[in-house]
Amino acid sequence: MPPRHNAMDPRYLTLATAFRALFGRRAKKIPLDAGSSCPNRDGTLSRGGCLFCNTVGSGTGLYHTGFGLRAQWDRLTPPARRRGEALVAYLQSFSNTYGPAARLAALVAELAALPEVAGIRLGTRSDCLDAEKIALFAAAPVAHRQLELGLQSASDATLARCNRGHDAACFARAAHLAAAAGIGVTAHLMAGLPGEEASGLLASVAFINALPITGVKFHNTLVVAGSGLAALYASGGYAPLAREAYVAAVAEAIARLRPDIVVERINADPVPGELVAPAWAADKRGLLADIAARLDALDIRQGCRFRP
Ligand code: SF4
Repeated sequence: MPPRHNAMDPRYLTLATAFRALFGRRAKKIPLDAGSSCPNRDGTLSRGGCLFCNTVGSGTGLYHTGFGLRAQWDRLTPPARRRGEALVAYLQSFSNTYGPAARLAALVAELAALPEVAGIRLGTRSDCLDAEKIALFAAAPVAHRQLELGLQSASDATLARCNRGHDAACFARAAHLAAAAGIGVTAHLMAGLPGEEASGLLASVAFINALPITGVKFHNTLVVAGSGLAALYASGGYAPLAREAYVAAVAEAIARLRPDIVVERINADPVPGELVAPAWAADKRGLLADIAARLDALDIRQGCRFRP
């Protein structure tokens, strides 16, 4: 169990603190693009994707421009190496465990062979995991193996409205499988999804509190260009959360979060040029300051209102 607070005495357990406890030094996530696909984009489940996602799928697209994982690694790791940081390979875009198990086996082997790699994190969907894939990821010879799984909301109605293509029970099954194999799971949650009040985030927190989750990322819902949500927004069918509502929701979510869950993010970063709304999402520094001020004003510490 990592220590609750670092020298800065944050009001929640940060990823920096957890990494320092694990590696004995600072760590750096190196975002890599493996050219993965997504069943909610390639027609297996749908071609439209999740309502809030555009065709870029949070990706850099580097792989398809000829940069393999090793080339990306060599290009991106020198600054962290100079600082003496532990290096964590992070496949963020699309669904990196999608497809045959043999593809994942090759991917994990390639990642584990990267020079000085100390950890591997794979972003994916819970319906792209099974016992075989979990087992081969669990065998990766690195100190840190983490799955980043989009849940977004614990409400099946919200998930259906967002064309997510799986339900909350699917997420729970994957979380249990991963935990049983010794793999950490980070849950991604969004506040302000269509048809859901800010309080929906609190219901999602209660849901993950009951699961063997090790980390969480809180995201404000972004309307990004090219997404279904952008079309809904343009037609007047969707209104983003007000900044104050998001700040209050995240602060309360931290208050109710199980104390051992690492809070890895508390906002979503728009890709430059893609943000349609809300405009306040572009002011990351101001947003983080507002959340910190709210935590201070209400004297909130992670888990202070957690009820098992
Ligand atoms: S958000 Fe993820 S799961 Fe949904 S369509 Fe985009 S890449 Fe696929």
